[in-house]
Amino acid sequence: MLDDLAQTVQHWGFRGGIHFSGGEPLVRSDIFELIGYSRDLNLELRMLSNGTLINPQNARKLKESGLKIVQVSIDGTRDTHDYLRNRRDAYDLAMRGIRNLRDADIEPTAATTLTKTNFSQIEEIVELVFLAGARRIGFSQLVPEGSGKDLEMLSAEELYDSFLKLHSLREKYHGKIDILSSESLWCLFDEENEYTRRAKEEGILAGGCGIAMFGLSVLSDGTAYPCRRLPIDIGNIKEGIQAIFIKNKVLNQFRDINNYKCKGCEKVTICRGCRAVAYAVTGNAFAKDPQCFKHIIDDKNGQTTID
Ligand code: SF4
Repeated sequence: MLDDLAQTVQHWGFRGGIHFSGGEPLVRSDIFELIGYSRDLNLELRMLSNGTLINPQNARKLKESGLKIVQVSIDGTRDTHDYLRNRRDAYDLAMRGIRNLRDADIEPTAATTLTKTNFSQIEEIVELVFLAGARRIGFSQLVPEGSGKDLEMLSAEELYDSFLKLHSLREKYHGKIDILSSESLWCLFDEENEYTRRAKEEGILAGGCGIAMFGLSVLSDGTAYPCRRLPIDIGNIKEGIQAIFIKNKVLNQFRDINNYKCKGCEKVTICRGCRAVAYAVTGNAFAKDPQCFKHIIDDKNGQTTID
């Protein structure tokens, strides 16, 4: 698969990358080999980890294998993180992992999934990961399926308030730590520009959710998903990356704005909401993101919401 990926992106004329995630990627005995092999194929590398196995030795080995960025999940202050992870020392081990990465000269990035349990702790989390050595933190929506099934997701209002809080913290922590979100709804705070205006006029997908545009998720047995948070089986990677990415019916449906329940929304070309949240909550991957807060912004601006 790694060779196929390297050849495909070279054929398409851009530099590809691979994100090692899990479960926990560091439980694989061959993980350092896989990273080194990917590095030799000139792929950009990133790892998503719970941080608990990042001791000084593993941090050094990750560095030697060629990894530059590791994202460590931090889901709250000590008690909250330990409670959510159902492990008493999970927080201390994760923070130790961030420090060890920094000491090994790997860029540690923190990642927090926003839930009812932790959204009041946003500022404390930012401060804690900054003090541990992270220089970037990303916040994401909870997808209530799999291990997140029993957690409580935020309402649209709470997510809006959380994103507002993150924007104010961006100013406060400017130059110290980057605070961001890769969620499509984050784009609702962005000013319209020439690029997004053209995308809207021409009905071209130009941002927001990256589904069917920027990657695939592959399980250890080769099963491919459109996104690591969206468990829809779209084939096996052994069929070939190009065959799946170009021809798969489900991916092509995701590329057609007309299939979306929010096709009438003026933001659809740069947003599309989170497809994984929509699927987990409604069973329909083309439903409107239940946490969409555009109506709140429209209300504040004295506009009517059309979606
Ligand atoms: S209606 Fe859909 S496209 Fe529009 S802002 Fe909400 S989630 Fe995004």
